[in-house]
This record gives sequence, structure tokens and C-alpha cells, in this order.
Amino acid sequence: MSDKPIYVTEPFLPPLEEFIPYLEDIWSSKQLTNNGPMHEKLEQALCEYLDVPEIALFNNGMSALVTSLQALNIKGEVITTPFSFIATTHALLWNNLTPVFVDIDPSSFNIDPSKIESAITSKTEAILAVHCYGVPCNTTAIQKIADKHGLKVIYDAAHAFGVKDSAGSVLKQGDLSAISFHATKIFNTFEGGAIICKDKKTKLKINQLKNFGITNENTISHAGQNGKMSEICAAFGLLQLTKIDHILNSRREVYQTYVEHLKDIVGIKLPSNKTNNSYFPIIVEKQCKITRDELHEKLKEKNIFTRKYFSPLISDCEPYTHIQSETPHARSASARVLCLPIYPNLARGDVVKICHHIKELL
Ligand SMILES: *Cc1c(COP(=O)(O)O)cnc(C)c1O
Repeated sequence: MSDKPIYVTEPFLPPLEEFIPYLEDIWSSKQLTNNGPMHEKLEQALCEYLDVPEIALFNNGMSALVTSLQALNIKGEVITTPFSFIATTHALLWNNLTPVFVDIDPSSFNIDPSKIESAITSKTEAILAVHCYGVPCNTTAIQKIADKHGLKVIYDAAHAFGVKDSAGSVLKQGDLSAISFHATKIFNTFEGGAIICKDKKTKLKINQLKNFGITNENTISHAGQNGKMSEICAAFGLLQLTKIDHILNSRREVYQTYVEHLKDIVGIKLPSNKTNNSYFPIIVEKQCKITRDELHEKLKEKNIFTRKYFSPLISDCEPYTHIQSETPHARSASARVLCLPIYPNLARGDVVKICHHIKELL
């Protein structure tokens, strides 16, 4: 078979001609960045769509995370998960904070609240949790612990665009949530991100921090960064938002096709359906004939490119190896998880083909 390659993800691109009117508007406004009309419209549209009180747009998810920690003036130690994309923990180092790794709950891949309290010390100031693959964290349990110990809660919600639980949008949980609009994420602005917060005062501070810490013409009160989203990215976000139902429904269909064809295979565990289908992580269990790494390689030979998200564990990466931690569930997930291709334009036939190869290999 000489099939065309199938990558783990592919960005959704609306027809190019639909983007032209947005570009014409930018050309006539002559405002390219710094809270231009597209930026303001996108903030408002996202507040409505995501049902959140305040949102501050950023140039990417990593700078949104870095600024979240800075906005809350966190110092000392922060409890977090080693099972995430490296940016989660890098954001701590950029603030001179010490990560303290706590194990995950293997059923959700999220930080296990029952393990948090024993990791708290006199230096702990915050919990940085991740809604991994868009599965909501146990936000109630996390908040309870935070309230008891006077800690702040920040969510890395990079995967959680549009995710709701029984309390509504998960982006409203904690003190702040940071989200990513990178090209590989469900909703993208080429590069982009945002912080979701609860009130205008916090948003004002975040706005200053993302603009070099400038308070007004004569005052610079913080060592802020340049985290601003440009007009062209905001415009693309506005266009993308008009397609979001199609994007989410198509991903749902891909999810269902996978489940239909993989559900009877012994030895692989399928992902939760309580997400936005941003990823399709399977677990290759111990009893399988082949390992996760072998499956990854064999599929590659068939031109199917899966990803070992999240391997290596963050705590095994060079900047973090000096930090002691024991996280057996995270370690096991990291050795067994494989994210299969999922994106709006992935043809049903291709999903069936991927499932067929997996069945054959197992
Ligand atoms: C993508 C991602 C980020 C970083 O977002 P960027 O927009 O790429 O900077 C942070 N955390 C997690 C969990 C991510 O998946």
C-alpha cells in the first residue's frame, strides 16, 4: 500500500476567500495589534461562546500560563502533574517557582486530588492542574484542598476549549485558566492563547502584564512581557469561531467511528467520551502482544503518524530531573499511551483503515 500519510492532527482551515474580508478590514483600520478591533471582537465573542466572565487574549498558550502565575504573584512551590506538555512546567521555571510533582489518577490522566495534601509544605502557594486531553479535573476536590490550605488554583486548560461539566464551563474553575489556540488545538488562531479570569480588575492587571507591565504613559509597574495577540490572529479566530460547531461535530464523528471499530479489541483501553475530542488517546495494556512503542513504529511503517503524548514524563526531562518524585501511574500512562489521528477532515475511511491496522497488529 502506498497510502498518503495520515498525521495525528491537521488544522481546520476555512476557505481562503472567507478570510479576505477580514484582511480588508485590517488594512483599512491600519491597526495591526495592541487591542485592535479584531482583538476586542474576539474577546467578546469568546466570552459569549465559552460562557466565561472575562478573557484576555495572548500570543500563545505558554505566555498565557507564565502571565497567570505572575498575575497571582505566586512564589515558592507549586503542586503540578508530570503528565502534560512540557510548557506547563516550563511556565513555573520562568517564574522561578519550584514544581512539586504529584501522581495522576489513571482513569482521568489528571492530577489525583487525594495525593495533593501530602505534597503541601510551608512553601506551597498554588496548584497548577491540567485538564488532560480535555477531560475535566476533579475541580471540586481540588478547590476544597486549596481553600483549606489557602492555595491558589490555576488550570492549564490548553486542551479544554468548550469543555463543560455539571457546573458549566470548566474554564470558570480555579482562580485562573490558561488556554492555547495553537495550530494543533481544536480552536486555533495560528498561534494564540488566553487567560480566563473572573473580574475586570484581574483582567486589567493581566492586560498590563501582557503589555510589558505598562500601566499608563508614565508608569511601568511590573516586569511584564510582550504577550499580545495580533489583529491577523484575532481575525482568524473570529472566522474559525463561525466554524466551531462543524469542527466539534466532525471530531465527535471520528471519535465514534474509532469506538465502533476498536471497542472489541482486548488489551486496549479507549478514551473517555466526556471531552471535546481534542485527542484520541488509547492505552496499550500489558497483556497486548506488542508494546506501545512497537505499535507506534508499525503504524508509522503504514504511513500513519501517531503521537506518544505524553512521553517522556516532564519529571524525566533535563530541567526537572533534580526534582524528586514518585508518580507510578503517570509513569505507566506515559509508557502505554498512544494518541491516534483525530481532526475534522479525517475521512471515515481513513479511521476505519487505522483501526484495521491496529486490529491486525494486536
Ligand atoms: C499546547 C499546550 C500548551 C502550550 O500552548 P502554546 O499555545 O503552544 O504555547 C501548554 N500546555 C498544554 C497542556 C498544551 O497542550
